Amino acid sequence: MKYYILFGPPGAGKGTHSGAISEKYNLKHISTGELLRAEIAAGTELGQKAKSLIAAGSLVPDEVVEGMIENVFNTVKDYDGFLLDGFPRTLAQAEALDSILAKREECVTAVVSIMIPDELIYKRIANRAAIEGRADDADQSVIKHRIDTYHSQTEPLIAYYKEQGKYFEVEVTAPTIEENRERVLALMETIE
Ligand code: ADP
Repeated sequence: MKYYILFGPPGAGKGTHSGAISEKYNLKHISTGELLRAEIAAGTELGQKAKSLIAAGSLVPDEVVEGMIENVFNTVKDYDGFLLDGFPRTLAQAEALDSILAKREECVTAVVSIMIPDELIYKRIANRAAIEGRADDADQSVIKHRIDTYHSQTEPLIAYYKEQGKYFEVEVTAPTIEENRERVLALMETIE
């Protein structure tokens, strides 16, 4: 099985490009953000705990997302692999992913990193706020906190995966979604 990580700052377009990638390579797309929002919508205990953290732009505890990921690995069949979107987001999560995969005698295939500068993050998230209506997209201070969290907690993963020779990056700063999607798919073609 292939285990791809779709990496990038909030608003880079991970959700936007995940469909084309997962379809082309027959991957099961797992977005921890989407799974958490589904828990909130369903009013589960987990969702209730996650709600205020997400609204504040903070990360939910590592164990929560690690459990969700392992659960999907255990239940999904008929795919050639997985496209992890928004996970891992901390070094602890990356290490947990390695041990979850080791138990399955598997490992991370590659990290596909889609990059945009911080200024563009604000524009992309403002656009999305108008379309998707996510509360965490509507508040400038929450967006700033998410960007700060990305730099302090998530960015160190770049070095972690570079050391393993698994890190592949592309800039998705083109004006159209189609152009950026082509860039991401072209990067995927270079991997293996
Ligand atoms: P974005 O890509 O814009 O950051 P996501 O849907 O990936 O949006 O995430 C939304 C929120 O869900 C995050 O700000 C965080 O609160 C929570 N979340 C998602 N994935 C994780 C994760 N791997 N670890 C901790 N919190 C997460």
